[in-house]
Amino acid sequence: MQMIEIEALNKTYRTGFLMQAKKALTDVSLSVPKGSIYGFIGPNGAGKSTTIKILTGLLTYDSGRVEISGASARGIEIRRLVGYSPEHPYFYDYLTARELMVFYGHLVGLSGLELQKRIDWALELVHANKDWADRRLRTYSKGMVQRIGIAQAILSKPKLLILDEPMSGLDPMGRRDVRNAILSLNQEGVTVFYSSHLLSDVESISDRVGMIVDGRVVREGKIHSITDSHSAEYHVFIQGPELQEAPIRGVKKGVQSGEWLCKSSQVKDEFLRFCVDNNLSIQKIDIQRPSLEDVLTEEIARAES
Ligand code: ADP
Repeated sequence: MQMIEIEALNKTYRTGFLMQAKKALTDVSLSVPKGSIYGFIGPNGAGKSTTIKILTGLLTYDSGRVEISGASARGIEIRRLVGYSPEHPYFYDYLTARELMVFYGHLVGLSGLELQKRIDWALELVHANKDWADRRLRTYSKGMVQRIGIAQAILSKPKLLILDEPMSGLDPMGRRDVRNAILSLNQEGVTVFYSSHLLSDVESISDRVGMIVDGRVVREGKIHSITDSHSAEYHVFIQGPELQEAPIRGVKKGVQSGEWLCKSSQVKDEFLRFCVDNNLSIQKIDIQRPSLEDVLTEEIARAES
């Protein structure tokens, strides 16, 4: 059984006096295995927050199946399994992080020594050190607030942690701390589903990704199976008489002298044959593997065309 199973999910917003329809999600399907770190990626406005709000029961939807650990995400009981931190957490900023944790701890039924231990555990996991855990939240940077958002989301020891853009607006150190917190929680058995438009972060810690563009999931699966589906680019460096223009379709001049870019393995083979036939000596061939960003850029361009 998957931790999250979404099938053919559709969502339309109705806004304004005339209740104009705006389709935000079209037939979204994805599955998140138990124990995984799942990155939900896509450009702004693609439908990430809408999907997350439906998963957390904050929004209704038109049609589809949305399940967490085999039960409908609309149910109340399932909430016990889930911890959630929104993109812009809003907390009472006259409280210190520790006071805030006590407040949220009471909401999930913790008290006394157990609550104190849980707070220490959660604050340590997000590297909230003693200096600032006892300061008022109004003095916090965005990165500190984001980490406190994660700390409150894990107080109930959820099996599934859902984070909306946990790394957006953070500096590199803040992003590293959030990445480490996600990895540590995952090592404790927590499944993490998070959205992000920072693809290098997603690439470095996720097992699987779902890519959403304009309300539709365009790719889903293990990262390497997604990037492998996009062909690698080959950089061929040659020496000899200077070529004035590309001799073959799919080949273009690189920035360095003697560098030619071939857009697929087949084009590279053709180009190499051309070089041999024309006495051009081949110095080296570099393979540029595509990144998630390359695949997403291609998918965005396809959606816009
Ligand atoms: P993302 O999180 O990927 O940036 P969202 O889920 O916030 O995307 O938005 C998806 C689409 O739905 C966008 O076109 C956005 O303008 C629209 N949308 C989001 N929230 C609302 C709302 N409350 N009312 C109307 N349209 C909305």
